[in-house]
Amino acid sequence: MTAKIIDGTAVAARIREQVAQDVKKMEAEHGVCPGLATVLVGDNPASHSYVRMKTKACEQAGIASFGHKLPADSTQEDVEALVNQLNADPKVHGILVQLPLPNHLNEERVLSLISLHKDVDGFHPVNIGRLAMKGREPLFIPCTPHGAIVLLEEAGAKFEGANAVVLGRSNIVGLPAALLLIHRNATVTVCHSRTRDLPSVCRQGDILIAAVGCPEMVKADWVKPGAYVIDVGSNRVDDPSAEKGYRWVGDVAFDEVKEVAGAITPSPGGVGPMTIAMLIKNTLRGAELVLTGNV
Ligand code: NAP
Repeated sequence: MTAKIIDGTAVAARIREQVAQDVKKMEAEHGVCPGLATVLVGDNPASHSYVRMKTKACEQAGIASFGHKLPADSTQEDVEALVNQLNADPKVHGILVQLPLPNHLNEERVLSLISLHKDVDGFHPVNIGRLAMKGREPLFIPCTPHGAIVLLEEAGAKFEGANAVVLGRSNIVGLPAALLLIHRNATVTVCHSRTRDLPSVCRQGDILIAAVGCPEMVKADWVKPGAYVIDVGSNRVDDPSAEKGYRWVGDVAFDEVKEVAGAITPSPGGVGPMTIAMLIKNTLRGAELVLTGNV
C-alpha cells in the first residue's frame, strides 16, 4: 500500500489565493487594507527566515506588513512598549511576535499583552483557554495546528470516534492540535517525552500528528496501516551530499511510513506552507472583526 501524499503547498496556495481575493474585495467595499505587524527580537537566523516568508506571503495577498526588529538585548519594557504601540495602531489588525524570544524576556507577559482581537497567532492565554473549553470560541486558532487539521480534512479523514494520537504537547503545536481533535469528537492520546512504549501508542492512531522535533523518529512499524499521518516536524540535518551541506526532514521517516499509511504529508511541503496560509487568513479575520464591530 502506498499512501496518498497530502500536498500542503497546493492547499496553502488555494487558501492564499482566496485570501487575496477577499482582501481586494474588502479594500474595494470598505477601503480597509488588512495589516500584519511582525516583532522580531534578536538574531536567530531561523526566526529571520520565518518572518521573511510571512512578510512575503502578506505582500502576495495584498496585506500590508509592518516589520519591527529589536536588538537581542532589548528589555522587557522595550518589547512591551512596542506591543502596546501596535495594539493602538488602527492600521495593524494582527500582531505576530516571533518565538522563541531571547531567554531573558518573559514570553507569557508579552503574549498576554497582545490585544485579543489582534492575536493572529492565537497564543494569548484567553484564546488558548477558549480553545480548551467546551462551547467557547477563540477569536483565533493557532496557525500550525489549524493548518494540520485542515490538511486532514482535505485528505478526507474522519474524526468522529477516531483514535487520534498527537506526538508532542507544546503550547504552539501539540496541545492545540489535541484540543482541535477533541472538538471534532476524536478520542485523543497525547504523547510526550515520558510516554512509555511510544511505538505501540502511536500504532493505535487512525490519525497520527507528529510534532516532536526529532528527525525521522516515527518509523513504519509505529503506524497503523491506512492511518492519516501529519508530519509537523521541520528539522535540519547534516548531509554532506547536499549542496548546502544540510537538508530538512520531518519527524516522520517519510519513505518507509508512506508504504504503510493511508495518507501522509511530506516535510517540507506539508504543514509548513499551511502555517503561513493560516496566518494571513487570520490577519484578514482580524480586519473583519474590526469592520463588523466585534472588538
Ligand atoms: P517543542 O516545543 O520542542 O515540543 C516538543 C514536544 O515533543 C514536547 O512535548 C516534548 O515532550 C516532545 N518530545 C521531544 N522529544 C521526544 C521524544 N524523544 N519522545 C517523545 N516525545 C518527545 O517543539 P514544537 O515547537 O512543538 O515543534 C515540534 C516540531 O514541529 C519541530 O520540528 C518544529 O520545527 C516543528 N514546527 C513546525 C512548524 C511549521 O510551521 N511547520 C511550526 C512549529 C513547529 P515534553 O513535553 O515531555 O518535553
